[in-house]
Amino acid sequence: MILQSFAYGQWVSGTGQPTVLKHAVTGEQIYEAGSSGIDFGQMLEYGRNAGARHIRPSTFHQRALMLKELAKHLTAKKDEFYRLSYLTGATRTDAWFDIDGGIGTLFAYASKGRKELPNQSVFIDGGTEVLSKGGTFVGRHICVPLEGVAVHINAFNFPVWGMLEKFAPAFLAGMPCIIKPATSTSYVAQRVVQEIIASRILPEGALQIICGSVGDLFDHLTLQDVVTFTGSHATGKKLRQHPRIIDESIRFNMESDSLNCCVLGRDAVPGSEEFGLFIKEVARELTTKAGQRCTAIRRVIVPEGTVNDVIAALTQRLSSVVIGDPALEEVKMGPLVGTEQQSEVTARLQELRRTSETVYEYRNEFRRNGHPLDLGAFFRPTLLYCRDPLSVSEPHNIEAFGPVSTVMGYRTMDDAIELVRRGRGSLVGSFFSNNDADCRTFALGIAPYHGRIMMINRSSAKESTGHGSPMPQMVHGGPGRAGGGEELGGIRSVMHYMQRTALQGSPTTLGSVYGEFTVGGETHTDGIHPFTKYFNDLTIGDSILTGTRTITLEDVERFAELSGDHFYAHMDDELARRSIFERRVAHGYFVLSAAAGLFVEPGFVPVLANYGLEGLRFLKPVYPGDTIQVRLTVKSTRPKEGESQGVVEWDVIVFNQQSEQVAVYTLLTLVAAR
Ligand code: NAP
Repeated sequence: MILQSFAYGQWVSGTGQPTVLKHAVTGEQIYEAGSSGIDFGQMLEYGRNAGARHIRPSTFHQRALMLKELAKHLTAKKDEFYRLSYLTGATRTDAWFDIDGGIGTLFAYASKGRKELPNQSVFIDGGTEVLSKGGTFVGRHICVPLEGVAVHINAFNFPVWGMLEKFAPAFLAGMPCIIKPATSTSYVAQRVVQEIIASRILPEGALQIICGSVGDLFDHLTLQDVVTFTGSHATGKKLRQHPRIIDESIRFNMESDSLNCCVLGRDAVPGSEEFGLFIKEVARELTTKAGQRCTAIRRVIVPEGTVNDVIAALTQRLSSVVIGDPALEEVKMGPLVGTEQQSEVTARLQELRRTSETVYEYRNEFRRNGHPLDLGAFFRPTLLYCRDPLSVSEPHNIEAFGPVSTVMGYRTMDDAIELVRRGRGSLVGSFFSNNDADCRTFALGIAPYHGRIMMINRSSAKESTGHGSPMPQMVHGGPGRAGGGEELGGIRSVMHYMQRTALQGSPTTLGSVYGEFTVGGETHTDGIHPFTKYFNDLTIGDSILTGTRTITLEDVERFAELSGDHFYAHMDDELARRSIFERRVAHGYFVLSAAAGLFVEPGFVPVLANYGLEGLRFLKPVYPGDTIQVRLTVKSTRPKEGESQGVVEWDVIVFNQQSEQVAVYTLLTLVAAR
């Protein structure tokens, strides 16, 4: 059966000689894939038009809600994805990382998008920079979605997760995507895309998929497109040098192979809890997905005196792993993705053996399930030992993308750090130790070379998400050899698909661009208290100047009694005289309360609740006898998606009788819509 691509709004078949895709377990032909004849330039154009018409007009929250819907929809369909995943050689656990991990990433971005991004289509990055003495000329950064298409080129090992973890941040940013899964496992990604398209949850044109090669697609890229690549260093390097990428300065995010390390701390002697946890983690990483994980542990770095114990413990653990047909429940490791990968890993293993000896190779029979496995892509987990790791390059350079790791010893912490750094940039490094001082030395010593560092001891192990699992909230990517990219990292990765632009002008002009009152901007008042207005009637810049209140010593004492805060600067004449205030001052929290007393409307108004303060600063002390007054201004109004209320942010400035600012903050309220 030939896999179709989804291009310019329809399912299309490639012409020409297709690539044959084989069952990883049995070696049988299962699908064919080919994309010749597809008009890649048209795909890009179609995506760009869709972005302009259907995606960019929506807000971050609307897109986040679509991601949530999609995640729920795919959850209901996942049995079919699991069935196909098995054909790639994945065990149930491997498929869980791929399928549930991918859907989980959609959920994570759906939630982050609504919590950390505004319900509008422009993201304001950071505060206002006052660029002039009088405050009439200010600056602020905004981020807006790029107007092109995000092209995602994925590796074969996690066809679902690899696709969804790139799609979620790109779509949330407001970009349409073209997905190019690795051909060998494209049938799994394509099945998921079929479900996505059929669900009609996403706007038209948000997603296209190419099953087969990308043909001349790169020749049609323009400066507003983005390429996000996951795969081998060699392919990434080639694509990054494509003339269009260079000429148009097209963003190219690369995640490639890396020689990740797992290091045993000096305190983690055999018999300690951390030693046991370390052995478990290394063995699990070696066999999960048959070692075909970009984050897999390739270098096992241990104190020299423990090398023999580590090898013995790993040997024991690995010997008990059942390998064979992943359809069987007891099987913990399946085959590699295909026989090409088998030859590739064999060749890399040969190269590694030039400077390392084999200390363990799986010898048990592969577990069958009624049919022969001779044509499947099985590979025996192999452990190497490198005697002199500081004087050879192979273990730090050669990635065998399968169940192969090299053990090496270190004498001092400095040596351990040096060995780790020899990998020249990795996605992840982990450290097993119960000594936090060593953790600090290790983490700071290797951080410039790593995207993520995991430190495990007896207190964190049980709940740890593991060395190999990238989390959507945390950075996934790494410097140097790992590609220099950042695919994940919460909202950071959404910014990869947006342009950050510095705006300069008057506070009023800037505020009108991004829909938010900017301090120093024009305010207006119609004589009606804004707290009495419904959400729909509030406009940015609506403002009131309240009446005044003189703070008395009695107020301070009554507030101390009520709150229990008897700090000497408020309560003790003698000590207050010796304090930085030189005499008794009002509590800052009393100033806030008194300010609320000045602006809050007592009646049954549309303000439903006050749910927080942001950016609070007490700028000057308020002394008994001082008179305060408040300016309250609508800073932003953000409707809540699907609800008859919205979030209103208020800029609050409290002044004293000399018109000096004594406190500033942003008040957050929920306001009912009409
Ligand atoms: P690969 O051979 O480099 O392929 C990666 C992707 O690039 C595939 O979709 C492939 O498509 C495509 N590709 C190859 N040549 C291309 C070209 N000339 N133009 C456009 N696209 C092209 O890597 P792989 O074998 O799939 O994956 C294994 C490697 O990926 C390992 O080295 C592993 O470490 C790395 N990896 C890294 C990460 C990470 O997050 N850093 C994750 C997973 C894997 P075809 O399949 O059609 O050739």
